[in-house]
Amino acid sequence: MPSSTPRATTPADATTAETVDVIVVGSGAAALTAALTAASGGLSVLVLEKSDRIGGTSAMSGAGTWIPLNHHARAAGYADSEDEVLTYMRAASREGWAEEEGNLWRAFVANAPRMLAFVERVTPLRYELIPQPDPQAECPGGKTIGRMVSPKPISRRVVGRYASRIRRSTLPHIFSYREMVSYDPYHAPVLTGLRLLPRLTWRWLTNAAGQGNALITGLLKGCLDAGCHVELGVRVTELIQDEDGRIIGVRAEQNGKPVSFACTRGVVLATGGFEWDAAMRDAHFPGTFDRYGSPSTNEGDGHRMAAQAGARLERMDQALMHPTMPTRYDGRLHGMPNTFQAEPHAIVVNRYGRRFVSEYDYNIGEALDRRDPMTGEALHLPAWMIADSRFLKQAPLAFRWYASYDRGWVHKAPTLHALARQIEVPADALAETVARFNGFCAAGRDADFHRGESAWERYKAGHSTAINGNPTLKPIERPPFLAIPLNRSLLGTKGGPRTTPRGEVVRQDGRVIPGLFCAGNLMANPIGTRAIGAGTTIGPVMTWGYICARTLLGNREP
Ligand SMILES: Cc1cc2nc3c(=O)[nH]c(=O)nc-3n(C[C@H](O)[C@H](O)[C@H](O)COP(=O)(O)OP(=O)(O)OC[C@H]3O[C@@H](n4cnc5c(N)ncnc54)[C@H](O)[C@@H]3O)c2cc1C
Repeated sequence: MPSSTPRATTPADATTAETVDVIVVGSGAAALTAALTAASGGLSVLVLEKSDRIGGTSAMSGAGTWIPLNHHARAAGYADSEDEVLTYMRAASREGWAEEEGNLWRAFVANAPRMLAFVERVTPLRYELIPQPDPQAECPGGKTIGRMVSPKPISRRVVGRYASRIRRSTLPHIFSYREMVSYDPYHAPVLTGLRLLPRLTWRWLTNAAGQGNALITGLLKGCLDAGCHVELGVRVTELIQDEDGRIIGVRAEQNGKPVSFACTRGVVLATGGFEWDAAMRDAHFPGTFDRYGSPSTNEGDGHRMAAQAGARLERMDQALMHPTMPTRYDGRLHGMPNTFQAEPHAIVVNRYGRRFVSEYDYNIGEALDRRDPMTGEALHLPAWMIADSRFLKQAPLAFRWYASYDRGWVHKAPTLHALARQIEVPADALAETVARFNGFCAAGRDADFHRGESAWERYKAGHSTAINGNPTLKPIERPPFLAIPLNRSLLGTKGGPRTTPRGEVVRQDGRVIPGLFCAGNLMANPIGTRAIGAGTTIGPVMTWGYICARTLLGNREP
């Protein structure tokens, strides 16, 4: 396993030799941005990653990155302002969040553009603007372009022996995020392959990748250049506190042996979500899930350690949820995020056979997770995508490939009544819902959920042709009819230790735990289940890593 200078101290006493300034736990985007910032500012930094691969969910991601006020948009002439961003966040978020999270939002908005400029300055990462609107661009302050960026592909070779240790994705990382949204290889794999053949061949020859693999390769290269030490296969299990409660190191397991590491300035926890811990998941997200999309090492270790050190955990019922298709990863069934339900001849119904959301809504995950406030029970699940035979012809070509990973996934029947019986949904209600939807298709307007009307939904419909002016509305009438389960899939939970706007973790009584910082999906994320940008996690998680490190640097510019 590659690793730079070993820095473990044994026995388990962190106050012995081999002390660094900062320990960063995890190696996703939050962790590596924190490590990069702290090390660039002159601090000695040790990164500890539990898995034998670097990058966590971030490496697997599309790396669609929501950074309002970024310099690429400014250079392209797209006007924006802090006021507009905050107005949008207020309008697009759930009620009450602006009052509770406003301080953190302001810190995010002030730091996100600085963070991006800094990352481009000290790493080989180069970003490009992505022509995607805010998911709720109609809200006051919303924008139809300018806030989404993503890294251009880079060769993994720049990180030398770590190249093979970058965590691979379930997504096709041979493409950049911009190519994914501009060419749509899921619908047109052959055409996209042919059009991009020279550059794809070059990437293949040079071990270059886009999306999350580019992100982690670039961040890691910056970290190594800045002198960070990176240790893989180290599961941090406990925070070490001195008699005043200050965090002075961590205990961990490495190769089955206990080790400990000491630090003088602090520990940044960035261990991602707790989606792979069944007990925590059941406690905060009762009900079933389709699949999980993150690495199975995201098991809530950071949550447990922080709680043990006295941290207040909040927002534990918030998560990034997204429809997924089945695939295999690390030898087991896994979820690959994909909006396969956003097709013209398809709708989504709940267990009562009724629609409850626009199928093209970016926040369909939030709708799937809607719960009864009294009982906590999911209101709509199990939910189903219902389609007619034309779905299979028009759905992403990749759909058939992924469907083959779960043979019982797609249900078929010659009539809607027979289909309803198969999936145990009230047959009359389903037939009525489909008839009503077909009426909307004839009229060219979805009177219930306004499908295809918002900027996001028009953008999403890009590849389809219109009948009656609305390309998202086409009837469900030709047998055989299809039903596919469409329940919650978790890409990462977003609750955890409550932090100050400086990234410091606080106790139950609001006092800061000295020396403890936290960033990313692990923290009580100020942007919860409802996404406000198409990449509302990567941009913020990087920014929170940056903010933690800035605080560790005494607010100095790195
Ligand atoms: C396929 C896919 C595509 C996505 N696309 C996008 C997108 O385009 N845009 C977007 O904004 N979001 C996207 N997301 C979500 C996004 O990737 C995550 O929300 C984000 O990467 C979380 O970053 P993080 O740094 O908080 O955690 P992670 O990247 O998950 O990193 C956490 C790391 O901590 C390590 N760790 C855990 N416990 C310990 C321990 N005890 N000791 C040491 N290390 C530990 C883990 O092994 C892991 O490597 C996507 C998610 C998936 C699955």
